[in-house]
Amino acid sequence: MTIEKQQIISDINQFITEELDDVVKPFDESDAYPGEYVQKLIDLKLLDLVDNNEFEAFFKLISRISAKFPALGSILLTQAVYGVLSLKMFGTQEQQERYLVEALKGSNMIGYAFTEETHGSRYWNFDTKAEETPDGWVITGRKATVSNASVSSTLIVGALVENTTGDDELGLFLVETDAKGVLVEEPFEKMGMHGLPVSQVRFDKVFISRQQLLGETLSGISQHDALIDKMRLAISAQSVGIARGSLEKAFKFTRSKRKFGGRLIDLELTQYRLAELITLLEATESFLDDVVKNHLDDKRKISMVKLMSAQMAVDITESVLQLTGGHGYMRNNEIERYVRDAKLLPIYGGSQDTQKITIIEPWLAN
Ligand SMILES: Cc1cc2nc3c(=O)[nH]c(=O)nc-3n(C[C@H](O)[C@H](O)[C@H](O)COP(=O)(O)OP(=O)(O)OC[C@H]3O[C@@H](n4cnc5c(N)ncnc54)[C@H](O)[C@@H]3O)c2cc1C
Repeated sequence: MTIEKQQIISDINQFITEELDDVVKPFDESDAYPGEYVQKLIDLKLLDLVDNNEFEAFFKLISRISAKFPALGSILLTQAVYGVLSLKMFGTQEQQERYLVEALKGSNMIGYAFTEETHGSRYWNFDTKAEETPDGWVITGRKATVSNASVSSTLIVGALVENTTGDDELGLFLVETDAKGVLVEEPFEKMGMHGLPVSQVRFDKVFISRQQLLGETLSGISQHDALIDKMRLAISAQSVGIARGSLEKAFKFTRSKRKFGGRLIDLELTQYRLAELITLLEATESFLDDVVKNHLDDKRKISMVKLMSAQMAVDITESVLQLTGGHGYMRNNEIERYVRDAKLLPIYGGSQDTQKITIIEPWLAN
């Protein structure tokens, strides 16, 4: 481990420990964007870890951030994977100079506009099209749910291009949000992950130059494939963090003295349930560690860990709510918030059933 990397990890860990305790509540209530925390973590060079392929360290930190403030984890993993990594892996030198340098500083937030209302992530049916002109591209279409869109200066947009044989090819296009014809709508009101802004975005004949096709090549399918794998691992790390944050609340509450005598944790049934939950969490975390260390390019294992960790986070947060009873159900105790936040995990980065299709594929071939 280089000294610089060690320093980044230590600075961010210190920030998480000292600055992120009990800050989430007002953001959960107002749904305001936590800009100062986003910028602080970017200033501490969280994104540089991804720029230097230090994924293991990045995922661990996303997990720790998400344990305390899940939506902050979502904002940062979106910028890291869809913004920084896309340009680092596929950007031309000119694109890296124009977009990546500022993305790493947080002065160019980048959203990823892929999913469509009617077609989900099934890009072969996308309604969003890019038409080639002598000078560049004209993008027309609509994207359903774009994280960070309302705070982004740039969007990476998945659009189909009809080639000379009449077939469609997928391109990822760098579109600036102040370009004529781009309309980023007001962020949705969501069940959880308050503070993460997610908007619908419309593209009405948006003209962009030739140089704004990512990598200047129509390789959107393989580019998206590579990015979605890292996104799934980041969401898995976030799942582990959310489950851990929720369990910490369970331990705190069940160990506290209650009005009428004993502590909940002194009941054997509570102990058994907590033992099961912590085992589930640690088993999932070990699997994630193994995939990150040894199978970083294995799509099936990545889907397995995403499937398992997202479900684990939902199960643990719901169990913690049940264990803590009426206390957990109340808004001011921040136990129910973990349940609401966790519900996003089996949806974004590809739904659970999508992961299962990837997992089962080899057995279908023969
Ligand atoms: C808060 C939030 C943030 C998001 N951020 C972004 C973003 O930044 N950029 C972006 O592009 N997208 C984003 N998304 C979209 C997200 O990636 C999709 O919601 C996700 O991929 C699921 O797609 P879908 O919503 O179209 O659901 P669908 O894929 O239509 O799934 C709906 C249901 O059908 C099931 N299903 C789907 N396919 C099959 C199948 N073949 N067989 C059986 N069952 C199936 C699913 O499991 C699910 O239960 C975001 C979504 C949310 C909610």
